[in-house]
Amino acid sequence: MVASFARAAMSASSGGADHTVDPDAVIATFPGPAVLLDSLGRALAANATGAELAEELRAGADFSLRAAVAAVLADHSAMAREVELPGTGGPRQVFDVTLLPLLATDGAARVILLGRETTVERGFIDALVQSRRLFKDLVACSSDFAWETDSEGRFHFVSRGALGYAAEELNGRTAFAMIDEAHGEPEIFPFDARVPMEDVEVWLTDAHGAPACLQVSSLPVFGDDGEYLGTRGVCRDVTETRARDAALAREQNRSRLLATIMEAIRREVQPAAMLRAAASVSAEAFSAAQCWIYRNGEAGIAITAAAGAGEAIAAELARRLLAGAAPGVVVAECESGVAVAAALAGYQGRTNGAIAVARSDAAFDEDEQSLLGEVADRLGIALEQVANTEMLERLSRTDGMTGLLNRRAFMEELERRIAHQRRTGRPGALMYIDLDNFKAVNDRFGHQRGDEAIRSLARIATAAVRVGDLAARLGGDEFALWLEEVDADSTSAKARALVAASAELRPMSASQEKLLGISVGVARSVADDTLASLVARADRAMYQAKRSGKGTYAEAAPPGAGVVD
Ligand code: GH3
Ligand code: MG
Repeated sequence: MVASFARAAMSASSGGADHTVDPDAVIATFPGPAVLLDSLGRALAANATGAELAEELRAGADFSLRAAVAAVLADHSAMAREVELPGTGGPRQVFDVTLLPLLATDGAARVILLGRETTVERGFIDALVQSRRLFKDLVACSSDFAWETDSEGRFHFVSRGALGYAAEELNGRTAFAMIDEAHGEPEIFPFDARVPMEDVEVWLTDAHGAPACLQVSSLPVFGDDGEYLGTRGVCRDVTETRARDAALAREQNRSRLLATIMEAIRREVQPAAMLRAAASVSAEAFSAAQCWIYRNGEAGIAITAAAGAGEAIAAELARRLLAGAAPGVVVAECESGVAVAAALAGYQGRTNGAIAVARSDAAFDEDEQSLLGEVADRLGIALEQVANTEMLERLSRTDGMTGLLNRRAFMEELERRIAHQRRTGRPGALMYIDLDNFKAVNDRFGHQRGDEAIRSLARIATAAVRVGDLAARLGGDEFALWLEEVDADSTSAKARALVAASAELRPMSASQEKLLGISVGVARSVADDTLASLVARADRAMYQAKRSGKGTYAEAAPPGAGVVD
C-alpha cells in the first residue's frame, strides 16, 4: 500500500515549497517509530519500532489524533504532540510525535507520524518533580530551613525566612557577618565549610540584634573540576532550647550552691565557726575574693565573719551599699574596678544582719544577685538561731539572780585562765568570798532580804574587778573572783578593799552579834597550778578567814610552803 506512493509532497509549516519524499524510505530509515496515516488517522504502514504504535492506533480509535491529522492536512503544516498508549500490561507508553502532511502522487492526503518514545524520559521528569516536591514539603514541614551559599559564603538560596529575616533579605548576606560576638567567634563555621559538618552550633545575631543559636549540618559543593562552589545545608533554630537548657543549668547551679552553703552552716555547731564557714563557702560559691557576714547589734550592722582578701575599698563599698539597702533587695555596684553585691538578712521583718561579696574581675549578674538574695534569706534564719543559741548559752553560764557567771561557767573559764597564765608566766589570783552570818538574815528577815544581801555582794564583787577579770556566784552565799595578771601587793590590796567595801552590808545584819560581812580566801596562782589545786588553796584560805573571826581575808601560802591551816 505504501508502495503506491511513488512521490509525495510535504509542505512545511510555513506553507512554503513542497519537498518530495518517499514515505517508505522515511519510515524504513527513521530510527524511532514511524507510521504512515491516512487522512482519517488510520495507520497504513509502519516501521519495525512503530509497529506496536501502529497496532495501537489501528485498534483504539484516537479521536484527538484523528483531529490532529485533519488539522495537519488542512493547514499543510507539521504538528508536534504527545501520544499516550495504554501499554500492554506494563506502564503507559508516551511518545512525542511529529505529524507531517504528505501529498501522495495519486492525490491522496497522507500524514507521516514520526515518533520518539519518551516513556523513560517522562518517568525521569516525573520522578524529579516528585522528589523536588518531597524536598519542598519536608523543608516546609520541618522547623529547619535549608540554604545554600556561594563560593564567597553568601546565601543565594534560603528555603524560608529565618532569624527574623525574610528569605529574600538573607540572600546575598553572609552568616559570617551575623556572628554574635558576645558568644565569641565559633571554632568551626559550617556556612562556608569545605568538609561535611553535622550539628554544629553557631550563635548568630538575628534581625533584632538578639542572639540566636542555630544547629547546622552542611555539605560543601564542588564543581566538576573540584573547584569550591559553595556549601549547602540545613539549620535548626535551637535558641529557645538553649535558653531553657541554660535556665535549667542556672537553676541547678543555684540549688547546688544554696545547698552547699546551707550544709556548711548546718555542719558547724559553734555560731562563730558556722558564720565563718558560711562566709567562706559563699565566697567560693560567688567566685568572690571576699565575703563578709554582718550582724545587727546595738551599734548597728557590723562584720561578724569574713573570708578571703582583696581590695581595701571593697569593704567600704559594701558598708555604703548596706547603709542604703532596703530589706529583701540585693544591691550591687562596681567602683574602681571592684564589684560588690550586698543584701540585708532578717527574721520576721526585723533586720538581723547582712551578707556582702566582692571581687575585682566581673560584676555580679542578675542570677548571682538573686542567689545572694536567697542566701541572705537563709542567713537571716541562721543569724536568728545564732542569737538564740547565744542567749541560751548566756543563760546557762550566768547566775539568774546576780547576772554573774555561775559555778560551771566560772570553773570552765578559770581552767582556761590557769592554762593561759601557765603559758605567759604571769600569775593571777583567785578569791573565794563567803557571806558571814548570812543565815541569820534569812532567819530574821526572810529570804527576800537575804536575796537583797546576795545582790548587794554581787555589786561589790562586780565593782572590784577590771575588764578581763572574772566574777561569779558559785552558789548560796559563796562568790569567787579571778584577778588576771596581778602581783602580790595588788592582790592583798584588793582583798582588803573588798573587806572594806563589805561594810555596806552591815546595815542588813540580823544582829550586832551576827554582823553581815564577808570572809575572803586568797590564792595566787603558780606555774604548775591546776584548777583543783588553786581552788583548794583559795577555799582553805577562806575557811582560815572564817576561823580567824570573819570579816577579814586570809592569803594561802604558795604550794610547798606548808598548808595555811
Ligand atoms: P557562815 O558565816 O559560817 O558563812 O554562815 P552563814 O550564816 O553565812 O551560813 P552558810 O554560809 O553556812 O550558809 C549559807 C546559807 O545561805 C544557807 C542558805 O539557806 C542560804 N541561801 C543559799 N542560797 C540562798 C539564796 O539564793 N537566797 C537566800 N535568801 N538564801 C540563800
Ligand atoms: Mg556564809
